[in-house]
Amino acid sequence: MELNENARIDTSQVDDRRGSGGGGGLGGIPIPIGGGRGGIVGIIVAVLVALVGGGFGLNAAFDGDGSGQGDNTSLEQQCSADDALKQLDCRNTLYVNSIQAYWRTALPETFGEQYQPSKTVFFSQGVNTACGQADSGVGPFYCPADDLVYIDLTFYNLLADQLGAKGEFAQPYVLAHEYGHHVQDLLGTEAQMRRQQQRDPANANALSVKLELQADCYAGAWARNATGTADEQGQKIFKSISEQDIQQAIDTAEKIGDDAIQQRSGRPVNPDEFTHGTSEQRRQWFTKGYETGDPKQCDTFGGGA
Ligand SMILES: [Zn+2]
Repeated sequence: MELNENARIDTSQVDDRRGSGGGGGLGGIPIPIGGGRGGIVGIIVAVLVALVGGGFGLNAAFDGDGSGQGDNTSLEQQCSADDALKQLDCRNTLYVNSIQAYWRTALPETFGEQYQPSKTVFFSQGVNTACGQADSGVGPFYCPADDLVYIDLTFYNLLADQLGAKGEFAQPYVLAHEYGHHVQDLLGTEAQMRRQQQRDPANANALSVKLELQADCYAGAWARNATGTADEQGQKIFKSISEQDIQQAIDTAEKIGDDAIQQRSGRPVNPDEFTHGTSEQRRQWFTKGYETGDPKQCDTFGGGA
């Protein structure tokens, strides 16, 4: 993968709350992620259970609106410097720019809906959101109640060191998956799925798997079209994306499959506990999105999953 050093990194699409102390408080009732209205939709919730030991770090009693703004000044300076692409946070900002540029065109084209931008919040350790308080242990997530993507960028270290997903392209894959949840939110898919879960609690996990696999498929559709995305001046964001990059995304998707995570944690593999899909399913749906490049093909609810 080669990023275009001439592309302008639009830091207004992120909200840098690292070190702002927005969170980290303890207490309250931990609620299962994805359970209930406005729940957090994470990429890798099971990892937390496996590696951190179960604390979801969410406080159901939190009553803030999560609208606290960070200070982007230093990020903005850093990302307009010559060596910006060497910085993890600037690269991730550019990935966000590319993903949103894609959906700005693709959402009206494929679903006839206007795309509404969603910022990504960079946080460290803990953060207050409209979905409750979260700590880094939950991994990156999307909160439908405030329409924001949240990530502690040190998550990538965990992905590389603990799960062996080391490739750089794991990063845009993770972000594209979370923006997939934003798209589901805009299309009403997420709300519909929550209602179905309430009507049919016995199938709650199976429904969650469908939602997650669709987000993987949307990530694949972005990956296919990413080299066509540009900044506001029309400068391409990616010079190239290689087969090896795509393989890194697939590899990451496989590493965070529910069965892989359960195996890693030494637990017996239990399909009833799957919430995100198996390695094989995650690989399949990312690949389907990538090969077709068409989000319409991501109909995991249509029986395909
Ligand atoms: Zn997810």
